Amino acid sequence: MASRHIETWNQCLGVIKDNTSEESFDTWFRPIKPISLENDVLTIQVPSQFFYEWLEDKYIDLLKKTIKKVIGPFGKLEYSVLMDSSDKSVTIKMPSSDYVETKNPLGRPHSEIPSDAPINPFIIPGLKKLQIDPQLNENYTFDNFIEGDCNRVARQGGLEVAKNPGKTAFNPLLIYSSTGLGKTHLCHAIGLEVKRLHPEKTVLYVQAEQFINQYVTASRDKNLNNFVHFYQMIDVLIIDDIQFLAKKTMTQEAFFHIFNYLHQNNKQLVITSDKLPADLQDMEKRLLSRFIWGLTAELQMPDINTRLAILKHKLYTNGIVLSDEVVDYLATNIRTNVRELEGVLISLVAQASLNKKTITLDLAKQTIDRFIRSYVKEVSVEYIINIVCDYFNIPVDNLSLNTRKHQVVQTRQVAMYMAKKYSNASLASIGKQCGNKDHATVHHACKTVSDRLDTDKQFKRMLDDIEKKILG
Ligand code: ADP
Ligand code: MG
Repeated sequence: MASRHIETWNQCLGVIKDNTSEESFDTWFRPIKPISLENDVLTIQVPSQFFYEWLEDKYIDLLKKTIKKVIGPFGKLEYSVLMDSSDKSVTIKMPSSDYVETKNPLGRPHSEIPSDAPINPFIIPGLKKLQIDPQLNENYTFDNFIEGDCNRVARQGGLEVAKNPGKTAFNPLLIYSSTGLGKTHLCHAIGLEVKRLHPEKTVLYVQAEQFINQYVTASRDKNLNNFVHFYQMIDVLIIDDIQFLAKKTMTQEAFFHIFNYLHQNNKQLVITSDKLPADLQDMEKRLLSRFIWGLTAELQMPDINTRLAILKHKLYTNGIVLSDEVVDYLATNIRTNVRELEGVLISLVAQASLNKKTITLDLAKQTIDRFIRSYVKEVSVEYIINIVCDYFNIPVDNLSLNTRKHQVVQTRQVAMYMAKKYSNASLASIGKQCGNKDHATVHHACKTVSDRLDTDKQFKRMLDDIEKKILG
């Protein structure tokens, strides 16, 4: 009699095996242990909460059909969830969603879990806290993160979260901006501040790419349980550059479970993204909707005064002395992002020390010039046409003339070449704006100009001048 549950479960496994892939079977069904069979209720033991949620989410239909087939129309399933795999294992009983009204047990509030059962195995008294390397960069502190209108909400939100992780309405805290505006810096600052104020908290900073790699490895090694368990033990989880999860459906799935678990247990989540959640493509809707549950804060390009303050702070902390004139020039002319501002500063200081020069305004200008040329600035085709026509002294309207006059042809070709290089417009659109030509003409023009650049020094000098004007 004692083995009836084992026999029944083995029959179930037979049915399941025929209806799943070998890999899924090995990962999700082989580790299950049958516990008992009483009054048509089969109780199975699963290794973790995550495991249970996954089965209910992914395999509930298969499980239901199997139970009905093997046990009969009144057959039911109950889970015994193993909360810790060490000796001190604790089990809690979980009904299959057959018993509860919500089909998706993931959204289930705590109260549906028997109240006497510990929800998180890691908060069972007497069990050791997890010791992990939080992966925080000590240099990225709040003190070093200069506040301005551009970042006030995010910075203050971050400070609040660090003071009371998981206890404010800012959960998750989602910080978004384009590159180089301080997302990563702020992440580390929050993590460091939590560690300072609450040394007992388990904090982890992780880049989304790292998270994905860990998921892939865990999945390959059939170790997903440990992976998810590990993340479920974190008090403050900081995930940087979440946009990399796009298209990674399985990783998103695992993150979804981790997110829910942490959020339900009042753990803090901090997420960064290079876009607003609404603009993130190829991400599951239910995940995106969770991202905006808390505070969504944007980091913008600092205004001139904040740029000055950032520069002065960097100079001060690095013991560099620069004239006000040079500092003003840098702050005024670098308008892309803070990383660029730092880059120019470092390059300027390096050049001055290598060449034993003093940092003059001229040297600053040259450095910025060189730096700016190394990335493509976004400018409109119209703007470029105006500069090129002005340079060759040809009225813009003449670009559409059907003439073989060298000056007109050259102006048009150079405008097309520069537009291709410095704008984001398509060849067709460039052609249309440069005298209503087609994309093949633009293509030909670009080739002609670059061929000539290789052989004609004077022409190259002219184009260098034009480029300087375009880059302002
Ligand atoms: P992101 O992650 O948004 O691409 P980072 O956090 O890597 O940007 O920031 C780029 C650089 O700019 C870092 O060195 C960072 O310290 C600096 N930075 C950004 N914003 C500020 C700020 N408000 N004050 C001081 N440094 C800043
Ligand atoms: Mg970053």
